[in-house]
Amino acid sequence: MNGDIITLMNIQQKENIQYVLSQKGKPQLVYNNYLFNLDTVHQGRKFWHCYNYRNNKCHARAITEENCIEIRHPCHNHEPHTNMIEKKKLKNLQADFDTCI
Ligand SMILES: [Zn+2]
Repeated sequence: MNGDIITLMNIQQKENIQYVLSQKGKPQLVYNNYLFNLDTVHQGRKFWHCYNYRNNKCHARAITEENCIEIRHPCHNHEPHTNMIEKKKLKNLQADFDTCI
């Protein structure tokens, strides 16, 4: 099966979604304990790809737009980034949710 698997959900379910900052101060999306880096912004839509996109060739992607998040290729080929995310939270590297959407 090659087709995209798309899950649309209401971004109001904020417990699943957070934003943190990378070491370079760029916003990163946290979804279900996975980290996504911002790829491009196009016509108000933000395109994110998995933190392991380059190293593991993980193809999980997410698109955020206003009050929606769209997950494409939701299956990661690696473990969740739980430890990395926890470290960022300890360092208070959380980004303001409202400024990132
Ligand atoms: Zn991944």
